[in-house]
Amino acid sequence: MSNKINSFVVADPAKCIGCKVCEVACAVSHTQYGVVTAGTMEDPVIPRLYLVKTPEVTMPVQCRHCEDAPCANSCPVGAISQEKNVIVINETECVGCKTCMIACPFGAIDLVPKYVKGEEITQRVLKSETQDGLVEKAVVYASKCDLCISRPDGPACVENCPEKALEVVKPAVLKKERNRDAALSLLESVKKFIG
Ligand code: SF4
Ligand code: SF4
Repeated sequence: MSNKINSFVVADPAKCIGCKVCEVACAVSHTQYGVVTAGTMEDPVIPRLYLVKTPEVTMPVQCRHCEDAPCANSCPVGAISQEKNVIVINETECVGCKTCMIACPFGAIDLVPKYVKGEEITQRVLKSETQDGLVEKAVVYASKCDLCISRPDGPACVENCPEKALEVVKPAVLKKERNRDAALSLLESVKKFIG
């Protein structure tokens, strides 16, 4: 197995208490205004992972950084690519067609509005009908977990979860550990067999 296989963040549903700290940490880490706290953010809190609460399970769901990413393979304008070992969306190239959102098997992508200093960015030409008549339609773009690619300390959700319910999974490392565990287990079986 290649060591270049993409990592991803996964939550342990047995530990997650649904507090949403991961969502807030995610939004804060992706703000364009440097170091801020959730309370001083000018833009709305828009996370890139999504807390799921059902009677059966509570845990956030986020991008798995698929090796043959269906989102990237379906994007008609080539706005999704792999950078280093992370699947990323170029929001400037995205036209908001939602193809990636439908293609993703995890529901890891959302279409979100664009804000600059608390102001929603609108389109130059396309209008939207409201009670007040025609107004400029908001710009939206596809957004998802980018493993905090620009953050030196790695994913903010993992660092900030108070229950330590999130971890970065490195499949290549995990596979080697499982191989080692299997070999040790086989060794014990063989020892019993040969006395
Ligand atoms: S957004 Fe969905 S399809 Fe794309 S890489 Fe992430 S999990 Fe895979
Ligand atoms: S919404 Fe954007 S990123 Fe997604 S498929 Fe359409 S253009 Fe590509």
